[in-house]
Amino acid sequence: MTPALQQEIFKAGLRGLLGLLIGGLFGHWLLGVGMGLALYLLMHLRYLAVLRNWFSAPKLVELPEPGGIWGEVYESLLNLQKRNRKRKKRLAAIVSEFQASTEALPDGAVVLGERGEIVWFNTAGRTLLGLRSPQDFGQRIANLVRHPAFTAYFTSGDYGSEVEAPSPINTAVLLSYRIIPYGSGQRLLVVRDISDSRRLDTIRRDFVANASHELRTPLTVLRGYLDMMSADASGPLKPWRAPIVEMRAQAQRMEALIADLLKLARLEADGQQARLDVLDVPAMLTRAVEDAKAVSQGQHCFESDIAPGVQLLGRDVEVQSIFTNLIANAGQYTPAGGVIRVRWWADTEGAHFNVADTGIGISDKDLPRLTERFYRVDVGRSRASGGTGLGLSIVKHALERHEGRMKIESEVGVGSTFTCNFPLHRVQMAVAAVAPPTALV
Ligand code: ADP
Repeated sequence: MTPALQQEIFKAGLRGLLGLLIGGLFGHWLLGVGMGLALYLLMHLRYLAVLRNWFSAPKLVELPEPGGIWGEVYESLLNLQKRNRKRKKRLAAIVSEFQASTEALPDGAVVLGERGEIVWFNTAGRTLLGLRSPQDFGQRIANLVRHPAFTAYFTSGDYGSEVEAPSPINTAVLLSYRIIPYGSGQRLLVVRDISDSRRLDTIRRDFVANASHELRTPLTVLRGYLDMMSADASGPLKPWRAPIVEMRAQAQRMEALIADLLKLARLEADGQQARLDVLDVPAMLTRAVEDAKAVSQGQHCFESDIAPGVQLLGRDVEVQSIFTNLIANAGQYTPAGGVIRVRWWADTEGAHFNVADTGIGISDKDLPRLTERFYRVDVGRSRASGGTGLGLSIVKHALERHEGRMKIESEVGVGSTFTCNFPLHRVQMAVAAVAPPTALV
């Protein structure tokens, strides 16, 4: 019990006693006690009324200093009020600092509420998305940015990546949208102008494509002469036989490189998803395995397990390049006597292509970089086997255009397994396909 409370109990007792004495003098001691306590209650009611007034207008009403229990209550309230004011000031400073820093951001920032309604946006958000203040506060973002790619991204709830779509106010401006969920149901939409970097990408891609294209014609001429010279390297050309053979091999390598660069440029230029031709994958794979067998000249043992009738919706040349590149790599990086196993099947998740070899394998540190252009674990080995260093890049791009994903598992000295997964909506079963998967060896 606090001293103030003890004091109050004492005061109440004293008032009651005084009432008892005065009332006793007049022969009405009970009435005296009642009056003494009633006076005491009145005093409390007065302080309660003061407190009530203070609550309704804390800035206008000043609290008295009555001492006792009410003095303590008033003092605690005033302290609490002071602390709250300080906290409010600090929060206001943080908010205005946050707003000033996000105002300075070149990226648009839009705070969205639980229903996707706009709560706040910065200047870049205003210029990139054309948002108006205050009219657009409370508007749902999906009503203002109506591009299908953004709508699908926004409603998917899967915000692990970002999506690209033109600005709603200027279709020439390409924006990258990223949603970051936070708090309970709130989201931060970050918008970035990527027009310049896309333009640079296009310039670089066009340059590589044009340079490759321009190089092709003079190289064809050179190759033609070298073919002729190597076919008839007798007489005065006899001492040049070895250099001519080497020059021809190098010209062939350059041709392969240019062909791969052009293939990659075409895949990149055609940013949309590949069109939906029905591809007879079992036939394509059987052919690809036969070609690989011919190249291997009996050095490897090929096994295939190809489910008949599992067809794919996609583009012939692109899907073919996925299969041939991966099967050719298995041959190139598997020493003689090794086994190469090719599989094609479908299940409830989609269609899957898998090449497993018992070759040299790839270390964990190289695995993440394999699909980079010109990335080779062993440059010498790759060159010696006619590799361009672009095969897996082509596979990656062709797969992306078919909404596919590649998984690579490998162990050095044991072998590698490349698996390509295609989504279910790109799979089509041939009508006659009822037979179980066949095993061709
Ligand atoms: P390359 O033309 O050099 O084969 P790729 O892009 O096809 O280029 O492959 C990149 C690199 O990945 C290769 O140089 C090789 O080091 C490695 N690689 C690809 N496939 C395999 C495989 N089946 N086994 C081992 N290493 C492989």
